[in-house]
Amino acid sequence: EKTSLDFLKQLNIGDVSQAVCTGQEWYGSQDNGQYDSYSPVDGKKIGSVRKASKADYEKLITTAEHGFDHWRRLPAPKRGEIVRQIGNKLREYKDPLGKLVAYEMGKSLQEGLGEVQEMIDICDFAVGLSRQLHGLTMHSERPNHRMYEQWHPVGLVGIISAFNFPVAVWSWNSMIAAVCGDVSIWKPSEKAPLSAVACFNVMQEVLKENQLPEGIFSLIVGDVPEIGETMISDRRLPLISATGSTRMGKRVGEVVGGRLGRSILELGGNNAIILTENADLKLAAPGIVFGAVGTCGQRCTSTRRLIIHESIYDKVKDMLVKAYSGLKIGSPLDESNHVGPLIDTDAVKAMQDAIQAAEKNGGTKVFGGDVLEGDGYESGCYVMPAIIEASNEMEIVQEETFAPILYLLKYSGSVNNAIALQNGVKQGLSSSVFTTDMRESEQFLAAWGSDCGIANVNIGTSGAEIGGAFGGEKDTGGGRESGSDSWKAYMRRQTNTINFGSELPLAQGIKFDI
Ligand code: NAD
Repeated sequence: EKTSLDFLKQLNIGDVSQAVCTGQEWYGSQDNGQYDSYSPVDGKKIGSVRKASKADYEKLITTAEHGFDHWRRLPAPKRGEIVRQIGNKLREYKDPLGKLVAYEMGKSLQEGLGEVQEMIDICDFAVGLSRQLHGLTMHSERPNHRMYEQWHPVGLVGIISAFNFPVAVWSWNSMIAAVCGDVSIWKPSEKAPLSAVACFNVMQEVLKENQLPEGIFSLIVGDVPEIGETMISDRRLPLISATGSTRMGKRVGEVVGGRLGRSILELGGNNAIILTENADLKLAAPGIVFGAVGTCGQRCTSTRRLIIHESIYDKVKDMLVKAYSGLKIGSPLDESNHVGPLIDTDAVKAMQDAIQAAEKNGGTKVFGGDVLEGDGYESGCYVMPAIIEASNEMEIVQEETFAPILYLLKYSGSVNNAIALQNGVKQGLSSSVFTTDMRESEQFLAAWGSDCGIANVNIGTSGAEIGGAFGGEKDTGGGRESGSDSWKAYMRRQTNTINFGSELPLAQGIKFDI
């Protein structure tokens, strides 16, 4: 059955797209190669995007600097009004954009649409925020003095995004940055460049209707050595927000730190759910299964480890094997399927290698792990999610494998032993406990409990609401994005003291007679 690609037409995506957009204008090198985007759904080529050159990048930065000078002078609520219109435009194009995200990345249609909804929601959030970029006032110790702080935009913000949320991560950063008065430059993942092109095609109508200059929102598609590395070492970008693997984040952190720039790092996770002896298993089951196999295990918040009290271990194992046996694997565009493909055949290989390593380390596979073949699986990217009995100290369990592998770990004694296992990895993104016991849940949330950026009780690890600050500790990078007061990372704080008297008293009562 042929997938209807009408959504490409609706999004104005042709065979070959240009590498750079500064809002409305598209341009870029014609002879620097291109990315061909293949769908993991059916293995077919969707289209291509040209790769930008260094000269393209330089041109873009000049435009962005001009754009910034205009944009920062616009009152924040007026900037919010533009973001409001972008949100409405996304509402209009939600269906085709969600389909493209699903088709290019391989997540389910429902999740593709959900990702666009997240963009819409963050626009709404940013609109409200545009009237709430509050600073504090302080009481000066000197007479006739007023002291307060205000928040100014930082300037040009570089956004580097991962393949698994090909559009939402851009909006979390760019829409918040925009109301803050910053302009943004987005380098999307080379594995999902068409979704990025589509976002700009959708947004450009708003920029045109409002007669805004170029350079407020920019997109640049290109290679890591040529564009990615150039961005992170460029002092004209005071802030880099990077989402991806810990390996990438360490490099970005080092280079940006080396020039004393700022970075927001949103890196890998190794998320665990704890099931105590007081867990409501009926509640936990869908949380575990969705967390482990949803998006084919390719969410930064996917559940990778299940830490189970020994008294319920066998029961939980049987329950999961039964649930996994009923999973339907196939095209994510067919809503009756539970699990779609991995992003590419390299990811399939990485999953196979991880399963082998786990078995070599003494782990026992109790379900799945096979690569699927035959009708509907021609892309070679479909796998059967795996369940493996393991122990926390195994090297492979300590790593994030970006695939649907769930490790079962057993604990005995109190919930504190489970928390120690949960914290006993390098990453610190998302964590959760299922328990109906208030003492256990409070231990988990205490200062000596979960060490993650996200800690949930009686819901799984996967996914998060945009209203909260999103991110994690340790090897997850420490950055926070999206809701709460994450906007502060996109602004510079200025402390102002104003003397409205006719004397100049120095601080700390210092006398300096001249
Ligand atoms: P990746 O690290 O391979 O690539 C991410 C992005 O970084 C891409 O755009 C890539 O081109 C770019 N990049 C790589 N090296 C770079 C360099 N030296 N300089 C500049 N840019 C560079 O990650 P991926 O495979 O696309 O995504 C999967 C990873 O992302 C997983 O580890 C997942 O946990 C993580 N992730 C984290 C979050 C979060 O919010 N914490 C969200 C989504 C994904």
